[in-house]
Amino acid sequence: MSKPLLELENFSVCYGPVEAVHQVALTVGEGEIVTVIGPNGAGKSTLLNAIMGLLGSSGTLRLGGQPMARPSVEAMVDAGVGLVPEKRELFGEMSVEDNLLLGGFARWRRGQRDQKERMAEVFKLFPRMQERRAQMASTLSGGERQMLAIGRALMARPRLLMLDEPSLGLAPLIVREVLNIVASLRDMGVSVLLVEQNARAALNVADRGYVLEMGEVALTGAAGELMHDRRVIETYLGVG
Ligand code: ATP
Repeated sequence: MSKPLLELENFSVCYGPVEAVHQVALTVGEGEIVTVIGPNGAGKSTLLNAIMGLLGSSGTLRLGGQPMARPSVEAMVDAGVGLVPEKRELFGEMSVEDNLLLGGFARWRRGQRDQKERMAEVFKLFPRMQERRAQMASTLSGGERQMLAIGRALMARPRLLMLDEPSLGLAPLIVREVLNIVASLRDMGVSVLLVEQNARAALNVADRGYVLEMGEVALTGAAGELMHDRRVIETYLGVG
């Protein structure tokens, strides 16, 4: 594996008295695409939200070797972590362009005035967003909304981009298109932590994977190995 970018050790997350993520150990190397697969309610979204600082957590979280004690969202954004949430959470009444600009706001506030260049990069990745730059976000198709959500996160120039179920609700052809884009993020120097219920699609695009069951890592390995693991095949890939 390449140099670790994100490292979790004994990472746990509770909702009140209920522990939804239990003592997870996970790493994402620089330039790696790592996927977390698992059934409904396994704790996948909880894990991403806690890494982002949206939920409290215990255990160790290191970024680029630096321990992040009690990570806040702001600290994680400043450290180069981005999240594309499951519900996309776009600003529906705003244009594609304004949604993108908001994604670059934290950089702008820090005095980094490269929003035009960032947007040009996003438009290169998603030409359709350029065509629709003046269109209201709420009127985009499902696939376009996902592209905009990814584009908005890229405006912050993350080193690590976490994607929560990017294929949710999309037609198979669009799923492939979105996951091809995920693969191309690596060429832009972005490492990816991808949560997916569509295990086959996720393992196809990832270098390594973790199977999360009831909040715990049940299995981990190279994506190619997991794809041939009997238990993964029976539980997550189905026949064929
Ligand atoms: P899905 O694929 O269905 O989104 P998931 O693997 O992402 O599932 P989570 O949404 O992280 O799973 O949920 C993990 C567990 O935590 C579930 O048992 C869920 O009911 C519980 N949970 C999630 N959010 C909350 C909350 N805000 N308060 C209390 N419990 C919660």
